[in-house]
Amino acid sequence: MELIYGKDVAKIITDSVIGKSEELERQGEREAKLAIIRVGDNAGNISYERGAGKRMEKCGILHEEYDFPDNVSKVEFDKAFNKINADETVDGILLLRPLPSQLDEKNVVTRINPDKDVDCANPLNLGKLLTGAKDGFSPCTCLAVERVLKFILEARGDSLRGKNVTIVGRSAVVGRPLALLLINDDATVTVCHTKTENLAGCCKKADIIVAAAGHAGLITADHVKPGAIIADVGVNMGVDGKLVGDVDIESVNDIASVCTPVPGGIGAVTTSILAMQVMKARIKR
Ligand code: NAP
Repeated sequence: MELIYGKDVAKIITDSVIGKSEELERQGEREAKLAIIRVGDNAGNISYERGAGKRMEKCGILHEEYDFPDNVSKVEFDKAFNKINADETVDGILLLRPLPSQLDEKNVVTRINPDKDVDCANPLNLGKLLTGAKDGFSPCTCLAVERVLKFILEARGDSLRGKNVTIVGRSAVVGRPLALLLINDDATVTVCHTKTENLAGCCKKADIIVAAAGHAGLITADHVKPGAIIADVGVNMGVDGKLVGDVDIESVNDIASVCTPVPGGIGAVTTSILAMQVMKARIKR
């Protein structure tokens, strides 16, 4: 089995965004800008904010961080949020979630300007994904999975068309929007969850398995058809304190043809997709 790291895909996307930044500069146009909003000290969010900032710098995109304490009042948050949302120099808004209960996350996401909603938090953009409209934004993680799968398949002269894909996970941020993206790519998609009967059987019929359950070691040799491609989205803390995915790499090693590792697989592509989305928003605006 071959391990496919995300860095090659990330480089292709990053280089393309750098080219667009340079074009803006040549034309004397304003640089693209991302605003990152974080409430509280979630370690994963702090790490993602840092990684996103570094990627924007590499891509020639400005970034501003707006960090609030966990107990920020609704009045104070809304005042700052409305200002960022209305700021003509801000092209993209990344709202790191979850938000504390006093801020009413469901309400906040519906107020993100849909044209700045670069990680598809606003249900309006999810609706565009549902209808197959091309002018909205899809979640960065889902686009990262789609890009990596296309990268693997194109190297074989193949595509997603007609492929049987089984996604393990049905969350509104990963499993469901990914299913929509892959259906739009003409794949035949099965979505599994904790109530699925015979998870192994559903996975074993798949040409491609996307593991997005958040359950370490869930996918083993019993779940994999010989030669299958596996994209591991899961990020879990292993017993030794190291990050691991949802796939038991040792178990699937002799059966799958390709798997993305954790860390260094899908997660390594996500911030370059975010930069691509910010540039798309900048050009659109
Ligand atoms: P989530 O909201 O907890 O959803 C997990 C989904 O997996 C649920 O639909 C759940 O089913 C299903 N599931 C859990 N255990 C299962 C099992 N044993 N068998 C079958 N289905 C199972 O998580 P999420 O936000 O979608 O994230 C999923 C994973 O991706 C997490 O590990 C997260 O850290 C990671 N992630 C990675 C990135 C990245 O860039 N690499 C980005 C976002 C998230 P039910 O609906 O029935 O509960």
